[in-house]
Amino acid sequence: MARKTWIDFAAVRDALSFHDVLTHYEIDHPTGTAQVKIHCPFHDDRTPSCSINLTGKKFNCFGCDAQGNLLDFIILMEGGDTDDHTARYAAAETAVGIMGRDLKEFGRASAPKSKTKAKVKAAPKSAPPADDTPAPPIANPLFEKELKLQFDHPFLAARDVTPEQAERFELGYCKAGLMRGRIAIRLHNRDGEALGYVGRYASEDIPDGTERYLFPKDFHKSLELWNLHRALTLEKRFLVVVEGYWSTIRLHDLGIPTAALMGSSVSPEQAELIRTVGIRHALLLLDGDDPGRKAAPAAAHVLSQHVYVRTLVLPEGEKPDSVPAKFLEPFL
Ligand SMILES: [Zn+2]
Repeated sequence: MARKTWIDFAAVRDALSFHDVLTHYEIDHPTGTAQVKIHCPFHDDRTPSCSINLTGKKFNCFGCDAQGNLLDFIILMEGGDTDDHTARYAAAETAVGIMGRDLKEFGRASAPKSKTKAKVKAAPKSAPPADDTPAPPIANPLFEKELKLQFDHPFLAARDVTPEQAERFELGYCKAGLMRGRIAIRLHNRDGEALGYVGRYASEDIPDGTERYLFPKDFHKSLELWNLHRALTLEKRFLVVVEGYWSTIRLHDLGIPTAALMGSSVSPEQAELIRTVGIRHALLLLDGDDPGRKAAPAAAHVLSQHVYVRTLVLPEGEKPDSVPAKFLEPFL
């Protein structure tokens, strides 16, 4: 199947004018000023209550509290949900259409790219020819089937994951099949396409010979970052990189773009992926325990090949999902 193109949402917003969006939707608006007020298209509005900053490309309605950036405006005009990655993607497509431009200008195809992008500078003539046959691209297979999950479970409650969060992050207790007795957590690629589930044994009392985490057969953990597709909807240029799922959920819901390594090591593919989706700064926030501290230098090194990295050391015994909120304030 043809894979979607990754879109740099911020670049789309930069290129598009709010004036053109309003014109596209045939919304009357004053011209000649940066700040305009219009009859709000999202509620029955008699007096113009929706304020738009045309240069800042933000809108804010005092009648219905609708607000956001240019893409949010398009999402709402199209009847979508601003938290929905697919809706944001569609809005970006609409935006690019309004500009009469090509989607490809705002991202790059996620198809395997050529191995050597950088120009090879004057290789010595005597050097043997470079190996031009790259290894076949590895991508995790898509897996659309949905498991029946129970969103409330003591294991989740103990990790401060509410049923509402469990449903939204597509995870829950599984009573049957291969994932029986586990918290099944939906995996996605960066485009938000479903890749199956990882199952966390739903107790700390794990029988001998039972894996704590059960990944799909043939799943390459090193190619993905859990929650990356949702983190991208927050449209930040930085990403907080943590070890696990519960930390990710907590930080994401504080509005901090976060993705999980599903472990404590960073693969070169994960580091490159972060760069590829437009992130320039990574904050490495591993668990405040021995494995986390030991893994941090190597993880930071791998990340630093692709993005600017800052490593934050958590107090002993703390994890991002348990650390006092005060510690997370600098990211907000
Ligand atoms: Zn309104």
